[in-house]
Amino acid sequence: MNCPFCKIDEKKILEYGKFVFAIKDQHPVTEGHLLIIPRAHRENYFELTNEELAEVHQLLKICRNRILAQDLSVEGFNVGANCGEVAGQTVFHCHIHLIPRRKGDDSNPRGGVRGVIDSKKSY
Ligand code: 5GP
Ligand code: ZN
Repeated sequence: MNCPFCKIDEKKILEYGKFVFAIKDQHPVTEGHLLIIPRAHRENYFELTNEELAEVHQLLKICRNRILAQDLSVEGFNVGANCGEVAGQTVFHCHIHLIPRRKGDDSNPRGGVRGVIDSKKSY
C-alpha cells in the first residue's frame, strides 16, 4: 500500500503515545501546522478505536501546549479532520489537523471551519 502515513520516518515524529503520533504537515496552512495520526492504518476519524480517540485528544492538548510554549504569537487553533473524498480528504489514513492561528493570518477569520463551504463561512 502506498500510504505516506504508514511509512513515516521516526525522526520526524514530534510527540507520540502508544497508538498515535504527531508530525509537521508537509504543506502547512500556517506555521506550526501539525497532524495527529494513528499508527494503525485507519481510513478516517470514525474508524478510530476508543483507545486511539483518547490518545488523539491527549496528544492534541500536548501539541497545543508545545506550540503555545514555542510561539507567543499563537492565540487560537483550528482542529479538524476531513472524512471522505467529498469532504476534501486526500490522504486516506486518518489524520487530525491542528492549525495554530495568529491575529491577522487571514483577512476574514470569522467562521473558521465553516469555511469548508466557502460561500457559507459567513452567517
Ligand atoms: P487531507 O487528507 O486532510 O485533505 O490532507 C492531507 C494532509 O497531509 C495535507 O495537509 C498534506 O499537506 C499532508 N501530507 C500529505 N502527504 C504528507 C507526507 O508525506 N508527510 C507529511 N508530513 N504530510 C503530508
Ligand atoms: Zn496508512
